[in-house]
Amino acid sequence: ESLTTTGSGPEERAMESALRPKNLDDFVGQVRVRQQLDLVLQASRIRERTADHVLLSGPPGLGKTTLAMIVAAEMNAPLRISSGPAIQHAGDLAAILSSLSEGEVLFLDEIHRMSRPAEEMLYMAMEDFRVDIIVGKGAGATAIPLELPPFTLVGATTRAGLLPGPLRDRFGFTGHLEFYSTQELELVLRRSAMLMDLAVNSAGFSEIAGRSRGTPRIANRLLRRVRDWALVNGLEQIDARAASAALDMYEVDARGLDRLDRSVLHALCTKFGGGPVGLSTLAIAVGEETETVESVAEPFLVREGLLGRTPRGRIATAAAWDHLGLRMPADAVF
Ligand code: ADP
Repeated sequence: ESLTTTGSGPEERAMESALRPKNLDDFVGQVRVRQQLDLVLQASRIRERTADHVLLSGPPGLGKTTLAMIVAAEMNAPLRISSGPAIQHAGDLAAILSSLSEGEVLFLDEIHRMSRPAEEMLYMAMEDFRVDIIVGKGAGATAIPLELPPFTLVGATTRAGLLPGPLRDRFGFTGHLEFYSTQELELVLRRSAMLMDLAVNSAGFSEIAGRSRGTPRIANRLLRRVRDWALVNGLEQIDARAASAALDMYEVDARGLDRLDRSVLHALCTKFGGGPVGLSTLAIAVGEETETVESVAEPFLVREGLLGRTPRGRIATAAAWDHLGLRMPADAVF
């Protein structure tokens, strides 16, 4: 099991919801998105209207679900949660939309994975707050129009570019979430440690933050692993040494790369001579889905300057060879 992939069990989900900030003031970092969203929400409160539809994009674990919950809380509105993969037929979406109450916030995670017919139904629902329910088949099929109460859609996607233009255009506000700085992650960790009643010193926080790939979900996950390690080793206070010993054990390296990241780089260097190689070929080589490599591993590796995207494919940078302790061949692209 990789520490950075999105799959999560019940224990993890319970912990995540306990650690979720409940309002915009407690939400660490993402200053621009936070200010812009705050403005959208304040304006709609003054106008006494439901807020514009909001699209949030960015890699997993940066706070999209948390922000959707905050939107609902700040608007004092109920929240409904579903996701693109859960909506396979237009009828699935119709059932959700027709049961919304006025002002409700509908959060659709992984909205880019919705089926085509559902997506087309969503266009009309977002724009005119109505849908056409198709009854019957073939020549006898009729469309029954159904009025919907005004609602706010909060869509989340790992990459806004994955959404068809017409869908993207129907959002009044789009916020792109960026990876967090180490200082911001330290704030996230301090808050979590307080809620978990854990003693961690400054050096301990900064060690964990530095290995968290700019991602609050990972920071919280690593904090729990370090907590386990401290518990088993009878440590009262977590310091840098304890944090690094624990995380080394979980194969999260000093730069925050986990097994998936390292296997992508390793395949790139050892199987493809450092590239360029196409993304899907690279994904097959590490036995992962293309989307996982593209939206989970790659954004972080690019940001760290370890992987490059070129028109001819992905390449390993000199820093990547160096990080893996491999010798870069003289004819490598970089
Ligand atoms: P996403 O929906 O983008 O995958 P989530 O909103 O589920 O991410 O966030 C994952 C976890 O990280 C949550 O449990 C939340 O506690 C924490 N988190 C995310 N963003 C922040 C933030 N800005 N401040 C504090 N905690 C955060």
